[in-house]
Amino acid sequence: MDKALVIGSGPAGSACSRILAEAGWKVDLFEKRNHIAGNCFDEYDENSVLVHRYGPHYFRTDSIELVKWLSKFTHWIPGHYYVRSMVDGKFIPVPVNLSTFVSLIGKVLTEDEFKTYLEEQRITCQNPINAEEQCLDMVGKELYDLLFKGYTIKQWGIEPYELSPAVTERLPLRLNWDERYPSEKYQIMPKDGYTAMFNNILQHPNIHVELNHELNPSDISKMQNNYDLTIYSGPVDAFFGFEYGKLGYRSLRFVWKHFAETYRQPCVQINYPHKYRYTRTVEIKHVTEQMCQGTTICYEYPQDEGEPFYPILTGDNLQKYDKYKLLVNKEKAKRNPILFLGRLAEYKYFNMDQIFIKAIQTVKNILGK
Ligand code: UDP
Repeated sequence: MDKALVIGSGPAGSACSRILAEAGWKVDLFEKRNHIAGNCFDEYDENSVLVHRYGPHYFRTDSIELVKWLSKFTHWIPGHYYVRSMVDGKFIPVPVNLSTFVSLIGKVLTEDEFKTYLEEQRITCQNPINAEEQCLDMVGKELYDLLFKGYTIKQWGIEPYELSPAVTERLPLRLNWDERYPSEKYQIMPKDGYTAMFNNILQHPNIHVELNHELNPSDISKMQNNYDLTIYSGPVDAFFGFEYGKLGYRSLRFVWKHFAETYRQPCVQINYPHKYRYTRTVEIKHVTEQMCQGTTICYEYPQDEGEPFYPILTGDNLQKYDKYKLLVNKEKAKRNPILFLGRLAEYKYFNMDQIFIKAIQTVKNILGK
């Protein structure tokens, strides 16, 4: 029987484990935390409110194949993903759409008036090379200053002109009344939560999960020879002993507050581009549709130290990652290969669905060989 070693139980590790197990492989999955599901982990807090422990996870995808695959492990509820940005004491809909203007200036613009406004405001740039140029090209200085600049500085700890345009490109601009945060075709949420869904993915006789067990790179190198394939989803720089220096990862501190109210804020996420040290407050109850009396709000404080959550996409970091990529490719070419998958291992600002899709495809390709 073929054997796989998997490090990390987030979307990459879990999906790979399941596909391999169903193909008859024996899988040993090592997870350093005391729970599965990586940063998608959710649980009931001490007040019995279901919360997303590592920030909100809004499942969305354009891939019906992925929805079908995950539907083997969960039922779904609709994903009500609405975000407002707090500007001058008002809740402003983001991403920018026609209702953004109603909230900002109290006036309904037609689509043509909106286009004219943008033509006047936009500082066009054929190929934006940083997030500031990208925002100015998309919406102009007025909306950049109101909605993007302050938030981006807080979130990343650097100036937007130091950051890749890919970061702010994640947000669409809409010339219509669609206020939903994402644009993907399927916007849904696992009915019983993410942890339950991951638990079902990993529930297979061929998968052995070991929690609270951190493997360091030298452990992995030693163990690798006992396995036909290794999947690694931790930070890529740590795996190679920081050979080319540390890659920048942004961390978060989560502060939780419970309120004896049914709902505290008008929608799941409020962004704060100007005031406060936190970037956003999240009331995930709006999307979990949990019927309970109280509610729990999470305040997110970005910071440098701590668990890595986001790759910081600057020119320096991306150049450094290119060097690590050569080492990654060497590992991939070995007889007992190691595959690097996921946000931390591939140093990419992936959404959850992109990780699932890539992990499933990568393993299927290996099995096909
Ligand atoms: N962003 C912003 N203002 C907002 C929302 C997003 O400036 O109100 C920028 C910011 O740089 C952020 C990026 O767009 O890091 C991507 O936003 P997204 O909501 O996708 O971030 P995530 O949910 O992954 O933290």
